[in-house]
Amino acid sequence: MNGKVALITGAAQGIGEAIARKFAQHEATIIIGDVQTERGRDVARGIGASYVELDVTDPVSWAAALAETGGLDVLVNNAGAGCGGPIEHQDVDQHRAIVDLNLHGVWLGIRAAVPAMAARGGGSIVNISSIDGLAGVAHLSTYVSTKFAVTGMTRALALELGDRNIRVNSIHPGIVETTRDRAMAPAAMARLQKAIARQPIKRMARAEEIANAALFFACDESSYCTGSQLLVDGGHLAGPFRDPMEG
Ligand code: NAD
Repeated sequence: MNGKVALITGAAQGIGEAIARKFAQHEATIIIGDVQTERGRDVARGIGASYVELDVTDPVSWAAALAETGGLDVLVNNAGAGCGGPIEHQDVDQHRAIVDLNLHGVWLGIRAAVPAMAARGGGSIVNISSIDGLAGVAHLSTYVSTKFAVTGMTRALALELGDRNIRVNSIHPGIVETTRDRAMAPAAMARLQKAIARQPIKRMARAEEIANAALFFACDESSYCTGSQLLVDGGHLAGPFRDPMEG
């Protein structure tokens, strides 16, 4: 990653922070783009990165961020959030806000980054989707819709941007250890633990394990990958986990 300039969205915490730390170990020039200024600055200071205040839902904010980076080789579209519950109880404004963040935020980022990457002869775009971007989950209709959209956008733009030497790939994390777990209601945590118990790898992912996949797509080791979907899910989607020997 030496000599590569990488912008990572939502990197003030969680998976994005782990990606920034991983890229720093591999000597990239890193820009953390987030709305959490204090936290983002702290993380950036700790790893020798820069911080730029970036609201991924705002095209003006993207233009300002790109003007600050000066050039770009890698964009990791990581900022995202979810909401859950039965569809008839969902709040319309919250639904729209999640779509804005998870779907429009990724599209706006790629739209802003393409000229900067093309000017340097190419680049790599890494979109953080989810296992929920490849399979449906009850009570997560908004989140699932946006993550499927990211999967589709990745494939459409891989086709569109190939002749400019820009690769576009998506990562599909399973259940990752995050600060969310501490805030979870006991019943929701019990459901999560049940799902984990059915996986071949019976634990949550560490954020660093998702960062390893992001590093692969970001660097030239993945030079023949574009439009790819990489599951990092402990085998979560490998199942239905029925064992015919158990009758
Ligand atoms: P997180 O909530 O810990 O961090 C999200 C970051 O995005 C925060 O730093 C937040 O400030 C930032 N952010 C929010 N709105 C923003 C905006 N408008 N502009 C810029 N930054 C903004 O999330 P996480 O658990 O680390 O998840 C990161 C990504 O991974 C998300 O896209 C999520 O959907 C995906 N994912 C997470 C899991 C999981 O189990 N945690 C599983 C699969 C996929």
